[in-house]
Amino acid sequence: MTTGQPRPPRELLALAQEIARTVIAPNAEREDAEAVWPEPAMRALGSAGLMGLHVPGDLGGHGEGLRSLAGIAEALAQESPSTALCYAMHCVGTAVIAARATDYQKQAFLEPIARGEHITTLALSEAGTGSHFWLPETALVHDDAGYLLTGTKSFVTNGGRADSYVVSTAAGGEGDDEGTFSCVVVENTGPGLEWSEPWLGLGMRSNSSRSVTFAGAPVRAENLLGREGDQLWYVFEVVAPYFLMAMAGTYLGVAGASLEAAREHLATRRHSHSGEILGDSPVLAHRLGELWTELQMARQLVYSAASAADAGEPEALVAVLACKAAAGDAAVKIANEAMTLTGGIGYRENGKLARMLRDARASHVMSPTTDLLKVWIGRALVNLPLL
Ligand SMILES: Cc1cc2nc3c(=O)[nH]c(=O)nc-3n(C[C@H](O)[C@H](O)[C@H](O)COP(=O)(O)OP(=O)(O)OC[C@H]3O[C@@H](n4cnc5c(N)ncnc54)[C@H](O)[C@@H]3O)c2cc1C
Repeated sequence: MTTGQPRPPRELLALAQEIARTVIAPNAEREDAEAVWPEPAMRALGSAGLMGLHVPGDLGGHGEGLRSLAGIAEALAQESPSTALCYAMHCVGTAVIAARATDYQKQAFLEPIARGEHITTLALSEAGTGSHFWLPETALVHDDAGYLLTGTKSFVTNGGRADSYVVSTAAGGEGDDEGTFSCVVVENTGPGLEWSEPWLGLGMRSNSSRSVTFAGAPVRAENLLGREGDQLWYVFEVVAPYFLMAMAGTYLGVAGASLEAAREHLATRRHSHSGEILGDSPVLAHRLGELWTELQMARQLVYSAASAADAGEPEALVAVLACKAAAGDAAVKIANEAMTLTGGIGYRENGKLARMLRDARASHVMSPTTDLLKVWIGRALVNLPLL
């Protein structure tokens, strides 16, 4: 285990890049084809000490924020967006736990996370309210030993593989209005969790995304995060910025890998009749230049918004909302265009570019979806509440 001292962001990024090259890249195609959870990568990230990215330094983590999260997600996604998603959802779950952790929660969750011994993840979405992830219907009722949890969560990344799940519930008791909810940590070892078969998507296939039903699952009172019913705070202060930056980084990685495939093809493919590389064609060079510009615009937005949010700048919110939408738009466009530029090589069944294009499409349906984000940006600009 490489824990103990917080490490500087550059070293953390270099570790992630090394794992992407040596562990993720060799497994990515098979994991996508077989739709299996990326166990070797998740173990390697744990051994390298990267699971504690958002755990405070005094608990053995690195105390890093949004800028580092986006950078590491981008590095991992260049080889496997699904692996980036698994890591990212662990990081967002960690940030939610860390936001108001009690002494018990620090010792039970954050310290093991920093040691690479505990994976957590976020279980917010439900079939009933769909992309409105801030409106949970899962019920939390008081019990002698704490709470009983009843309901179903859909699309839980790292489902059945994580050690704990950060679960949103209807508030229970006082404050049970629409838009107020409670968050609890549900441990994988407890009774009352029934997992469905993994969901098989067009893309983002190797992340063990599954539904879980809580059939009166007992939850210890100590596992309540913050106070009952105050968790709308978590949505905009913690879940939204961390999730949006994690996903923005992931889709930058998709866009970057796709652009590189196109660049490499245009730089090396020569037709026998002309002897020139494809990039010598003005129209192809122009299209490549456009894609590069698109990626750089999205990257600059993501990294400047992340740095501004890390610095606590109040005007960062709108830029943060725009990041996932911009990176998702760039990923879909660049993967799609790269497939044209790389001809028959790019279009082959289940090549890397095909995987990137399939994975890119998930960006628009993962909530907050691209449409919702653009609506929220517009509302923020005219001084209306986002919801
Ligand atoms: C690969 C993958 C992994 C996921 N992992 C997780 C996870 O780990 N944890 C988790 O909690 N969730 C996860 N999700 C769930 C995800 O975040 C969304 O909540 C879910 O995909 C929404 O799906 P839905 O079919 O219910 O969408 P619907 O609610 O049916 O929406 C369909 C479309 O309508 C649009 N729409 C709906 N309402 C509005 C509106 N008011 N204004 C504008 N547009 C609107 C949506 O933007 C969307 O494009 C994951 C999803 C995927 C695909």
